[in-house]
Amino acid sequence: TQAMLEVENLKKYFKVGKQSLKAVDEVTFSVRKGETLGLVGESGSGKSTLGRTIVGLNEATGGRMLFEGKDVRHLNKKEKKNYNRIVQMIFQDPHASLNPRMEVGDIIGEGIDAHRLASGKERMERIYRLLERVGLQADHAKRYPHEFSGGQRQRIGIARALAVEPKFIVADEPISALDVSIQAQVVNLMDDLQRDMGLTFLFIAHDLGMVKHISDRIGVMYLGGFMELADSGDLFSEPLHPYTQALLSAIPVPSTAKGLRRERIILKGDPPSPISPPSGCRFRTRCPHVMDVCASAVPEWKEVRPKHWTACHLY
Ligand code: SF4
Ligand code: MG
Repeated sequence: TQAMLEVENLKKYFKVGKQSLKAVDEVTFSVRKGETLGLVGESGSGKSTLGRTIVGLNEATGGRMLFEGKDVRHLNKKEKKNYNRIVQMIFQDPHASLNPRMEVGDIIGEGIDAHRLASGKERMERIYRLLERVGLQADHAKRYPHEFSGGQRQRIGIARALAVEPKFIVADEPISALDVSIQAQVVNLMDDLQRDMGLTFLFIAHDLGMVKHISDRIGVMYLGGFMELADSGDLFSEPLHPYTQALLSAIPVPSTAKGLRRERIILKGDPPSPISPPSGCRFRTRCPHVMDVCASAVPEWKEVRPKHWTACHLY
């Protein structure tokens, strides 16, 4: 399948005093049309910054992003407006991202108006259909965000994203703030929507368990860089990078599942600051397999098995 989004050596640095915080540092990957790419990493790994840079909420510091073959950083005004429509974001905190003073119908209608997709009766019908499609009711359009539960507010956030007929959605930890009992419902909704509407997702989460079922492929980030990227099944059955191995070992496995139990790998210390990341491999200060070469040379990001990428001197 063809790539919808190709990201090459993308960088996003922030100035912190005289120093520079390398939130996203030279990442290269692609997202295929119709897939869900799960993106996992601890807080501070750069995954949200990457998502915000892709949708255009941050300006990239360097590198390239090609969307359907076009360079996103050099679009003309009209193309840029179109990009802002077809690439949408769903946020972690549906409470903070919905204007409390606006009726839900107008929150959903804002994008429809901005892109002149419909007006009058057709616009309202569109809003009602969207509300129903995400599991709410047409008459919820007249209510305000605070009248809804966390899960319902996230459904409103999803309806708002869908209102402009997007192709690609960056979902930034869309379920992390929700009760565990609600999380699966929202994931299932997103999975259904993807199938019905042919959407492509970049689904960001802080742990592997959350993205396992929805993702076709999974990328693992640490301190601004990609450590590994593979088909979900391969990542779980044959994690190559020591960091991925540690993350996987932290997921509880039922004691009855023979042969699946992994010994828990406890990582020493906390991730270093992205203002002064370690030389060589950025994971080396916590890696159980660290070697001399890891301090002196940056491991190359390469495809070490078919469709299985990692950056580690062990391979
Ligand atoms: Fe560990 Fe070295 Fe591989 Fe980095 S390159 S993950 S420090 S073995
Ligand atoms: Mg899917």
